[in-house]
Amino acid sequence: RWELDWLANKARLTPDAVAIIDAEQKKHWTFAELNQLCENTANWLYKQGVKKGDRVALFSPNDISYFQLLCACLKLGAIFVPINWRLSFHEIAYILQDCSPKLVGYHKSFQENMENEIFKLYRSFQVNQNVEKESQYPAEPIHERDPLAIIYTGGTTGNPKGVVLSHRSIMWNGINTIISWNLTNDDTTLTYMPLFHTGGLNALSIPLLMAGGRVVIGREFIPAKAIQYINDYQCTIVLLVPTMYQMMIETNEFQTSTFESMKTFLSGGAPCPLEIYEAFKRKGILFKEGYGLTEAGPNNFFIDPHVAMEKLGSVGKPMMFNTIKLVKENGKEAGVNEVGEVLIKGKHSFEYYWNNKQATKETIEDGWLKTGDLARMDEEAYFYIVGRKKDMIITGGENVYPLEVEHWLASHPQVDEVAVVGLPDKKWGEMVAAFVVLKSGEETESEDLKTFCSYKLGKYKIPKVFYFVSELPKTHVGKIDKKQLKKMGSNINE
Ligand code: ATP
Repeated sequence: RWELDWLANKARLTPDAVAIIDAEQKKHWTFAELNQLCENTANWLYKQGVKKGDRVALFSPNDISYFQLLCACLKLGAIFVPINWRLSFHEIAYILQDCSPKLVGYHKSFQENMENEIFKLYRSFQVNQNVEKESQYPAEPIHERDPLAIIYTGGTTGNPKGVVLSHRSIMWNGINTIISWNLTNDDTTLTYMPLFHTGGLNALSIPLLMAGGRVVIGREFIPAKAIQYINDYQCTIVLLVPTMYQMMIETNEFQTSTFESMKTFLSGGAPCPLEIYEAFKRKGILFKEGYGLTEAGPNNFFIDPHVAMEKLGSVGKPMMFNTIKLVKENGKEAGVNEVGEVLIKGKHSFEYYWNNKQATKETIEDGWLKTGDLARMDEEAYFYIVGRKKDMIITGGENVYPLEVEHWLASHPQVDEVAVVGLPDKKWGEMVAAFVVLKSGEETESEDLKTFCSYKLGKYKIPKVFYFVSELPKTHVGKIDKKQLKKMGSNINE
């Protein structure tokens, strides 16, 4: 069990090193304190009847309680289920019913939510950090392929699915990430990415703790405050989604800060507009993009940040202990610069979808995880994500990758944000449609944008219609909600 309990090991090796800092509450925990908290919590959960294989859900803003319950579950062999509290009660009820938790932990600020009848079906408890020492829980044998966490995917493309991550998945995502991204005990990150999401919990926080580094927890994302924390806590590596970067580069604080301590800013979770790279480049600060998904641990690629500043938009090469291939529609592997679906094989990959054999069968084939994402590889073996397979538009038999059109339109001087989707069309099967947010005070016409597109894009790729909107719908983690856009476009077209 020492083998799997990485936190107990850290507490043995570097007991006095700071592991977690709560930026809002100005509190910190060393590895020894964090491990003791998790031991006490495991004992307490056991006393409440939680046994190996039982689910323990959590409903909390970004807080120490994520690490507390995750590692308490790790010790007990129980399964941690962080819940996206930004979902509707209807969606939360679906998730709770799906994973049937023995206990639901909640943060004190969510006490009122617990009055809702969907929570009344479950035993709930307020998570606190003053857990008394109870009698010792029995040490059950734990296998590395036993589930440790279920993370429900954002549901960008349908009903949330419970991604089962075993001890092994989380451990190997940690090993791969530490080796490939060169994480050390000198590193500090600030996490504003939600901890119920793989981007907050697994992408950087857990690997960094395994490396002996520090995780500073931020709660509500306010760009100026984030910049202040990065400087105050001397952060070295930070991961945010493109929307957060977009907000950040618009602040005065970004313009004036030199980010002395920072080694790399990382973007992930969604395609990153190239203007964000440019904003960092102008300041001489390294910035790179990662590609990941909940099912794959989530990290898969590595790019040297210096190279990333040249090869804009590339996510790099497959990281250590990870095999990636690109497969075309006809089942053959894609050649150089050909587009294919990203297939991943590695121990960091998930085990199965909770209660969903059908989806598991459709997603894992011969040990390969079919990501549903499309990419190409250039002559130097650098990968570029092209977009989701589901978002690819087929118009008059031609394939259009929305990202290519989006990148070009985003470089138009009047355009602030843009998203391209396919809408049903009687003649062409699908037609290319663009939703455009203009910069404040700017004006332009569809015809101007069409002409602009014609400078760079083949005729079939040029949007047939442009919808000018004041903002784009986004999901809870700030990804553009294309499902919603398609609905909006289809309604307008009716
Ligand atoms: P669902 O799986 O239900 O659609 P989701 O998209 O929110 O929900 P996540 O695991 O959070 O699921 O996100 C993974 C997806 O995000 C990837 O499959 C990919 O489509 C997209 N993504 C992640 N990183 C990048 C990137 N650098 N460029 C483009 N897309 C990315």
